[in-house]
Amino acid sequence: MTIPNVTMNHCQRKALCLWCNHHVEAGEPMVTVFFWNRGTPSHKGFNVKRYYHPQCWVEQGLDYLKRNPYVPYQRKKKLELTREQSKQRYSLLKSKASIDQRKRNLANEPNNEVAMVALNIKIAGLMIEIAPIGGIPKKWLDLHI
Ligand SMILES: [Zn+2]
Repeated sequence: MTIPNVTMNHCQRKALCLWCNHHVEAGEPMVTVFFWNRGTPSHKGFNVKRYYHPQCWVEQGLDYLKRNPYVPYQRKKKLELTREQSKQRYSLLKSKASIDQRKRNLANEPNNEVAMVALNIKIAGLMIEIAPIGGIPKKWLDLHI
């Protein structure tokens, strides 16, 4: 495992810039990248130092990013379901929606507790069914509709 550590200092001794292949002269600002290789129990680790002009360090970083384009963080994993599973999932979503509707209708009625619990138990059953085919939709976890 390699842990890079990046510092910027005045160059003490002239060093070759890894990016442009020209020397960083003593007294000039210089970026030092220090890789600390832990090694393994059987192989001793070793340290590697690389030197860059500050602007070369930025250039190589931008170059790296250009070669590794930005990929937006995916919040939702795409569902990979068979046609049959998609149908099942859709039918479970519909069942849930109709139970939600019944819960809304019940909400204003007196002594509705038992009926509400019964509907929530049905929802729990739907959760168990839908979990293996794409997962439980997040909003299902809110039973207080
Ligand atoms: Zn350079």
